[in-house]
Amino acid sequence: MKQTGYKYSIGVDIGGTNVTVALVDMKGVIVNKIKYSANVLEKEELFVHHVAVQLSEIVDGVPINSVQGIGVGSAGLIDHGKGEIKCSPNMYKKKFPFVSMLKKKIRRNNLSKLPIFLENDANVAAWGAYQLEVPAAVNDVVCVTMGTGVGGGIIIDGEIYHGSNGLAGEIGHVTINTEGPRCNCGSNGCLEKYIGAGAIVERTVEEIKKGRKTKITGLVKGKLNKITPKIIAEAARKNDSLANNIWEETGEYLGIALAGIINVLNPEVVVFSGGVSRAGNLFLEPMKRVIRKRSFVSKRKPINYIISKLGDDLGVVGAALLVRQIKKGSDLNI
Ligand SMILES: [Zn+2]
Repeated sequence: MKQTGYKYSIGVDIGGTNVTVALVDMKGVIVNKIKYSANVLEKEELFVHHVAVQLSEIVDGVPINSVQGIGVGSAGLIDHGKGEIKCSPNMYKKKFPFVSMLKKKIRRNNLSKLPIFLENDANVAAWGAYQLEVPAAVNDVVCVTMGTGVGGGIIIDGEIYHGSNGLAGEIGHVTINTEGPRCNCGSNGCLEKYIGAGAIVERTVEEIKKGRKTKITGLVKGKLNKITPKIIAEAARKNDSLANNIWEETGEYLGIALAGIINVLNPEVVVFSGGVSRAGNLFLEPMKRVIRKRSFVSKRKPINYIISKLGDDLGVVGAALLVRQIKKGSDLNI
């Protein structure tokens, strides 16, 4: 293993309401972290200024030649080659040249020499999981991020697969029901409309309103607007039949989409991250059943399904690890 002399890299995770900046060591451990709320609709100039201020803060007292670079993960459509946030449904409607603006902002300080990498948040999650949570010999990975939205990141032969214009990995918008509900993407019956956090809750509330008895009602003291996937998982672990049905369906829907993806990409590992993924076996078991039935590719070699243990930190740690733009196991790896 070649000694590079670098000890750290910096990760920036741009979410819908918060920005997290962290100094991360070469093993992916967070050494220092700053999280602040940011209105991403504030003027781009001001937004970049705030990021620059926090970057200076996070490396305060750290020799800059021990830092390898800065990795940034952001929601939305990203042009990673140009370093631009092209469009984001909840954020910027127009092109935001984030990397060039940030470089300009830090050109007079000690951060100016550091390379900056920008990727979308699902690719960052996939990259972080690939670097830290997937067995060393594995280089073909699909990562499904399960939260309010459903995203995907694809690693092929040890590299993030971007597709022809950076849009690869939109697993949430795979059709699983041609007659299904309308989706914001313009299609209908997309996976996200069935297994996004909101969709899971909606299906549960509908059943309760139809008069179905469940422990969920007690867990939220009758306030149906307090139901979350976490509460539904809690009820399922107490053998609640409605909650179990909901996770069973969720796993089956996910299995339908993944069976197709596995047939196309033949990954060795599939990683699940995001809040909804914490339900773990509640959806994994029914999902695996459907995949076994629908994907002949999965039968040729068993697929390893992993729930990410990095939780909310996966975004910022994965971003920091973007500075490792080389395949695991290569002699330049650190
Ligand atoms: Zn869609």
